[in-house]
Amino acid sequence: MSEAINVSEIFGEDVFNDTVMKERLPKQVYKELRRVIDEGAELRLVVADVVANAMKDWAIEKGATHYTHWFQPLTGVTAEKHDSFISAPNDSGRVLMEFSGKELIKGEPDASSFPSGGLRATFEARGYTAWDCTSPAFVKRDAAGVTLCIPTAFCSYTGESLDKKTPLLKSMEALNTQALRILRLFGNTTSKRVTPSVGPEQEYFLVDREKYLKRKDLIFTGRTLFGAMPPKGQELDDHYFGSIRERIGAYMKDLNKELWKLGVSAKTQHNEVAPAQHELAPIYAQANIAVDHNQLTMEIMKRVAGRHGMVCLLHEKPFAGVNGSGKHNNWSITTDDGINMLDPGKTPHENKQFLLVLTAIMKAVDTHADLLRESAANPGNDHRLGANEAPPAIISMFFGDQLGDVLRQLVSTGDATSSIKAGQLKTGVSTLPDFNKDATDRNRTSPFAFTGNKFEFRMVGSSDSVASPNIVLNTIVAEAFCEIADELEKAEDFELAVHDIIKKLATEHQRIVFNGNGYSDEWVEEAERRGLPNIKTMVDAIPALTTDKAIRLFEKFHVFTKAELESRAEVQYEAYAKALNIEAKAMIDIASKQIIPAVIKATTQLSTSINAVKTACEDADISVQSEMLKETSALLVKTKDALKVLKASVAESENKAEGKERATYFKDVVKADMQKLRMPVDELEMLVDKDLWPMPSYGDLIFEV
Ligand code: ADP
Ligand code: MG
Repeated sequence: MSEAINVSEIFGEDVFNDTVMKERLPKQVYKELRRVIDEGAELRLVVADVVANAMKDWAIEKGATHYTHWFQPLTGVTAEKHDSFISAPNDSGRVLMEFSGKELIKGEPDASSFPSGGLRATFEARGYTAWDCTSPAFVKRDAAGVTLCIPTAFCSYTGESLDKKTPLLKSMEALNTQALRILRLFGNTTSKRVTPSVGPEQEYFLVDREKYLKRKDLIFTGRTLFGAMPPKGQELDDHYFGSIRERIGAYMKDLNKELWKLGVSAKTQHNEVAPAQHELAPIYAQANIAVDHNQLTMEIMKRVAGRHGMVCLLHEKPFAGVNGSGKHNNWSITTDDGINMLDPGKTPHENKQFLLVLTAIMKAVDTHADLLRESAANPGNDHRLGANEAPPAIISMFFGDQLGDVLRQLVSTGDATSSIKAGQLKTGVSTLPDFNKDATDRNRTSPFAFTGNKFEFRMVGSSDSVASPNIVLNTIVAEAFCEIADELEKAEDFELAVHDIIKKLATEHQRIVFNGNGYSDEWVEEAERRGLPNIKTMVDAIPALTTDKAIRLFEKFHVFTKAELESRAEVQYEAYAKALNIEAKAMIDIASKQIIPAVIKATTQLSTSINAVKTACEDADISVQSEMLKETSALLVKTKDALKVLKASVAESENKAEGKERATYFKDVVKADMQKLRMPVDELEMLVDKDLWPMPSYGDLIFEV
């Protein structure tokens, strides 16, 4: 038996959380900090000094020697620069451990090497990090020792945000302001703050580290660039929710323990559809904390895998032919006094506030489908979306039977007078209880599904930060709320105005609702008839960031300036071109140095054996060997030709202007040439002696973890 974990004892033990602050801060200081956290006031330096000192003492007791401003640049991963607490040695050569309020609130990493999309020339490298005190500090333990991590926002000398946290916090502010207006209009005078709640479900693969190290493609790009399908894939559905194997179980246990210590409420774990694929879901939290926790989760997933002799793959499509990984972004709007604005209640047709919120979200999603799509775009996700394993690249909303019916009533008669009841599920077995059914079944194929009291945005890629989708969601819904509140605040007859707005929005935006099979070809055609955008690739999605519509939206709610949006588009184009360039170069490297030599060896062996057989027995039938030699040699020629083409197209990319032009070239030309190289190689893998093949097969990787 493995050692038992006392969850309540370890949960949050590495977090400078509310309990610790209450214990360690003078009452007055605690109160002031709490006010800053809860109400968003400014933190005074004298208070910061006291907090910093308490934080340092706490961290040092935990063994910390360093601190870092932990931030989220546009690379999508977290960044940190560690400083030790030591002061300059005094006359007797001794050092003190110091950490001031100033160091807590503000940091100044050299920012020149982070992508900024032209916002900041490298000679103006100044960038600042600023403490996000709404996300608690924590200590991280790794080979570098123990480090106090302070979640921070990152912006340039001139104030532009260079990260994902700053716009996220701004979008939360916008949603708070506009949602409160709606609540007040409905007579709510008690809620003080509204925040988006987010629960990201994280999918991942685990592979054996020894095998991983033999796959240069996994090492350089996070996904396999070659690989023939094994005899068995995921067709038996025997992995999904299957019993968890010992090695994986030990990993999950260790992972949960690490996450719980960091205050991440890891809750659900199970095997996913593809062999070697798994999922972890936390309990939802306030959006910015959920984003920080998801970043931490990804980092810890990788680290713990190493300890278990495995590697955690977060890429969206590590293996062709079996499902890739995504992240379901569960999202709702919650008040500080516990009201979920997305809770329909038992009779949604009577719940006018809910219907207004729902139709506002319809309007937001329909109007800004292109932005939502963009927020889930990354090079890996291009392999998943629309490939019958993930939602199509078309944004639509799923409401289910109950709300779908309410909506139909609204559109057809202008009023909704009934709600379909949930009903009981009779199990038909006397010893099993009957239970209440949900009023709505699930639809796994919808990119944006209502699931009881939240929306689930299912397009996000597994390796991506969930900051971007939530920035978009918060802002587009804030915009819809704002327009509605503008109208309602002026209305003479409030009830009537609410009624009219709900009807109008439901009618105008009904095209965004689709309850059928999102994976079907009919839907692609139907969506086109409805005029819904079908944006198939990341490169095609990026222009959504800089349309007039997007600029108006984000500038109005002070989330992004035009310059910031343009910079983000640039960063995205660059990220795409770079990712594909690395993939293409890795393919060239592997084909030249590993595959072609191995195939030459195989053909040489074949010819030697043909000669040997002939010498031993002149009239032996060598047709099989000859046939194989012919086939293998023909594929070798195809491989060499395709390699030459790919090399040339990669070289040609240098002549394309950086940004959109180069990204488009990689998408249209290089990607196709990569596929052309892969095809003969995958066929060769099926012909060549396994002992000669230079890397572990798909079967070795996903069935023998
Ligand atoms: P499902 O099985 O429908 O996907 P789960 O209960 O497993 O639902 O929840 C999936 C994720 O959604 C979890 O991270 C959960 O904490 C989160 N979640 C549940 N309710 C809400 C809510 N009201 N707002 C945001 N996230 C939520
Ligand atoms: Mg789910």
